[in-house]
Amino acid sequence: MIACLGRIVHDSDAESKLDDDVSTIFNSLNLQGSIENGDVSGIASKDFGGLYSVKPLYLIRPSGAEDISRVVKAAAGTPHLTVAARGNGHSINGQAMADGGYVIDMRSTGENHFKLLTVNGSPCIDVSGGALWEDVLRRCVSRFGLAPRSWTDYLSLTVGGTLSNAGVSGQAFRYGPQTSNVTELEVVTGKGDITVCSETQNPELFFGALGGLGQFGIITRARVKLQLAPDMVRWIRVVYAEFEEFTRDAEFLVSQKEDESFDYVEGFVFCNNDDPVNGWPSVQLNPDQEFNPAHLPQTAGPVLYCLELAFHYRNSDQPSTVDMAVSRLVGGLGFVDGLISQVDVSYMGFLLRVKRAEQDAKANGVWDNPHPWLNLFVSKSDIVDFDQTVFKKMVKNGIGGPMLIYPLLRSKWDSRTSVALPEGEIFYIVALLRFVPKGPSVEKKVAENREIVKWCIKEGLDFKLYLPHYRAKEDWKRHFGNQWTRFEKRKANFDPMAILAPGQRIFKRTNQ
Ligand code: FAD
Repeated sequence: MIACLGRIVHDSDAESKLDDDVSTIFNSLNLQGSIENGDVSGIASKDFGGLYSVKPLYLIRPSGAEDISRVVKAAAGTPHLTVAARGNGHSINGQAMADGGYVIDMRSTGENHFKLLTVNGSPCIDVSGGALWEDVLRRCVSRFGLAPRSWTDYLSLTVGGTLSNAGVSGQAFRYGPQTSNVTELEVVTGKGDITVCSETQNPELFFGALGGLGQFGIITRARVKLQLAPDMVRWIRVVYAEFEEFTRDAEFLVSQKEDESFDYVEGFVFCNNDDPVNGWPSVQLNPDQEFNPAHLPQTAGPVLYCLELAFHYRNSDQPSTVDMAVSRLVGGLGFVDGLISQVDVSYMGFLLRVKRAEQDAKANGVWDNPHPWLNLFVSKSDIVDFDQTVFKKMVKNGIGGPMLIYPLLRSKWDSRTSVALPEGEIFYIVALLRFVPKGPSVEKKVAENREIVKWCIKEGLDFKLYLPHYRAKEDWKRHFGNQWTRFEKRKANFDPMAILAPGQRIFKRTNQ
């Protein structure tokens, strides 16, 4: 089998033979799923970022972990082939690509696992690494009235894809990121071994794979913690003119006990003007509640800040009880009088809110524009400087998309996972989610992102890139800091030939 693979790769006329040989490969790998030739315009050569494109050798749609194991072992038998798991391809910088290698479309395994269990008295669900979070949500709520505790804003992402990064949204201040909400994984390592791991069973692989950027194994199954799903959500936005007041309230809310705060806390920066994408209209939750700039103080600057909050409740709760609880929480906040907007939506409707934005953006033709996005974690100690330089100067005219900023608590993250974080207990996620029309402005925006990162480094900010993308080993070493040695050791243990996730550009494929 392996010999056959090597022959195809090395033949000088391999291109012309590929179509014939793909069936030979299929048979020799003994795949239950399917395989097709890599294509420059196929899904495996692209991602959501739209910034990079490479040509894979083959695209494989595995039927499960055994197929994936066979592909990894076959790649290991060649001197240079690599294997990239592709979740839903929502990376920005080619992280799920494999130039001249195998791309494994994890979506073909999306339905493989869906089993409710009780672990230590608490409900959990076993789901496939290739399942979309939106499908996990729908199935858990409709079948069991239960739901995962920690989410991402957008749910057309795969379980394995977000667990390989962290998975962050407005619930993470309470429950930690998605990587803090799984108790067991099944992983295919870079040696092709199918291994079950948890905090107590193969813990190095378990914690390594969580936030591991796909470097140590391909997650084929995850056991996700569940809780009772609420029926409804009161979704609220309140506006601040001053950054210090915004951060004071945001930090207060994420530091309170569960029954003394909201169930979701996020925030964003927007322009103090009537631009439909970047300005006042971007705050409106409800067409009847128009943003009235007359409420703003004279001192308001070029950008304003919005806290986005959610309060969960059940259909059986008395409306007056919900109103009172929300009023009490909102009453403690120092936002600009009159600049509040709120709406009641179903829990599913709330969690699927970005799906609706996606549908609108697709209808307007902007969803498929390039996305030179930048995501950072910035320590509370540096966030005022960041605001002064980046929000108030560099991007003060908006970026043609959301500029998220909200606080997270380091103590809710497990330091044994592979995720790199700033030092401080409170740090902010900052996400510059640009939608840029194809053309020369894309490169300008990529350069603008680079400037921001360079500025953070020059000023010695306590920060990390989230969904990191570096090219040079030195940058990766700096990114991981004192965790680099552990990261390298894990690589040597679980993927010694550096076969997996080559699109992250951390390690070079070796033949040892
Ligand atoms: P891919 O992009 O396909 O893969 C990402 C990386 O993980 C690659 O290196 C790939 O090889 C590896 N990988 C994929 N599947 C597996 C697997 N099963 N096992 C091991 N490695 C694997 N992130 C947040 O945290 N919070 C958000 O709110 C959020 N919102 C987003 C909104 C949009 C519109 C988009 C495009 C992205 C958002 N993200 C968010 C980022 C998202 O978490 C990443 O894009 C992530 O990579 C998941 O995407 P994916 O499933 O498509 O994975």
